[in-house]
Amino acid sequence: GQDFEGLVAIITGAASGIGAAVAKRLLAGGASVAAFDLRPEAADPALFALPVNVADDASVRGGVEAVVEKFGRIDIVVNNAGIGAQGTIADNDDDEWARVLDVNVVGVARVTRAALPWLQKSPAAAVVNTASIAATAGLPQRALYSASKGAVLALTRAMAADHLREGIRVNCVCPGTADTPWVSRLLEKAADPEAERAALNARQPHGRLVSAEEVAEAVAYLAGPGAGSTTGVALAVDGGMQNL
Ligand code: NAD
Repeated sequence: GQDFEGLVAIITGAASGIGAAVAKRLLAGGASVAAFDLRPEAADPALFALPVNVADDASVRGGVEAVVEKFGRIDIVVNNAGIGAQGTIADNDDDEWARVLDVNVVGVARVTRAALPWLQKSPAAAVVNTASIAATAGLPQRALYSASKGAVLALTRAMAADHLREGIRVNCVCPGTADTPWVSRLLEKAADPEAERAALNARQPHGRLVSAEEVAEAVAYLAGPGAGSTTGVALAVDGGMQNL
């Protein structure tokens, strides 16, 4: 239905993958959607796409100002922009730690902070963060990435507590391996990408990758009126991976 009619959403990383699917879902629900992305030109033309780097506070504040100028309000923030990092702690130096945490963790706080005065005024305020199965799974070769997503999960709960009385709900989704350009880029590095994709599918508990649309549906639920009594939760969209 038109669950989001009259509402304004900011989605970071909306030019690709999960963020693009979330944008499509919220648009279908009647929202006006602003995309904050490094590559706004790649976003769906139906979005109000802005060149925003979530790792740059001035850029984020400028983006929020532009959204308010255009739409006059902000109701929903989906903090989805994120970058990967591979390896053990032996493989990433301090600069790499700072770079990834600045996007994946501080980015969540930075974008939400800039939008906060508007969320406080909204009767339907919701923040949804994209964490990951990596937040809790103890995945090998993902030390820095896992730390960043564990922080997103902790930050989600802390923000939920801090802003409960202001009527702002804060939740996160924890996708398993999802079929997005991110994963395609990794597969393309393999000697036989098709075989690698089949092997990756076979490693998932339900025999296939999670779809971006499935993650988007979970984000829409958490952002929407049906989740009006739900805050501080992490919703797994992982085919059951967290139960193994
Ligand atoms: P993607 O690479 O397809 O899309 C990410 C988007 O974020 C891109 O459009 C990119 O330009 C944008 N972006 C990156 N850095 C940015 C920055 N500093 N400022 C603004 N925009 C920026 O990735 P995806 O697979 O759709 O992943 C989206 C989110 O989901 C990420 O937070 C990722 O960690 C998380 N996630 C992905 C998977 C997966 O398997 N694909 C699993 C769990 C969690």
